[in-house]
Amino acid sequence: MRIGILGDIHANAEALHAVVAAMRNDGVEQWVQVGDIVGYGPEPSVCIDIVKELDCVTCLGNHDAAVLDRLDTSYFNNFARAAIHWTRPRLRPSDLEFLSSLELVVRRPPYTVVHGTMHLPEQFGYVISPVEALDSLEHQDTQLCFVGHSHVPAIYLRREASPEDIHVVPHSEAEISYRGFDRVLMNVGSVGQPRDEDPRAAYGLVDTEQEIAAIRRVHYDIAAVQKKIRDAGLPEVLANRLALGV
Ligand code: ZN
Repeated sequence: MRIGILGDIHANAEALHAVVAAMRNDGVEQWVQVGDIVGYGPEPSVCIDIVKELDCVTCLGNHDAAVLDRLDTSYFNNFARAAIHWTRPRLRPSDLEFLSSLELVVRRPPYTVVHGTMHLPEQFGYVISPVEALDSLEHQDTQLCFVGHSHVPAIYLRREASPEDIHVVPHSEAEISYRGFDRVLMNVGSVGQPRDEDPRAAYGLVDTEQEIAAIRRVHYDIAAVQKKIRDAGLPEVLANRLALGV
């Protein structure tokens, strides 16, 4: 089975269209989405429609929870909070209904989907180093787990025989064999707002027969979405950062 994993779309339809085209080209059979369809970007409903059309296995992200008023936004930075306040009144009832239906953790052996970490999914912590990866892996009971949230892609691998020994593939673009590893934790990066200084949209690809996991990147029309962000009256910084990948 070829699994395509995307997430942290953040209402960036330009990036999402480019990623979906690339994933179709890769022959993706099963679509997974790791949360944060909305927030930051100008086209939340368009992105929700695409996720629904693709029938993605989807979990709840912190920005999704915030627009539903299920998460206190006081720990969000000003720009993130402004975008939540911009987004909320623009969503259709069907969008809110869809986001409300999402769970924090979705288990579909051989994989599990969660936005932040497996050990504290409701706290939306980040997997950004082997330290958090180890905690999350302790609570992972499927061979594969897909996460997002940090907007920085990386793959963490572990063997049952040496559970403390975490093998890390930190590259923003990588293809590795996970044969012989009992646990794979994959942060697939962000479609709509990459933060690893590579402005290209990111997604993950897993072939369960060949036991290959890959992080892929794709160019998209950044100027087009920047214009939409400015026209929408969203904070300027949310447009500027896309060109830098921060
Ligand atoms: Zn996000």
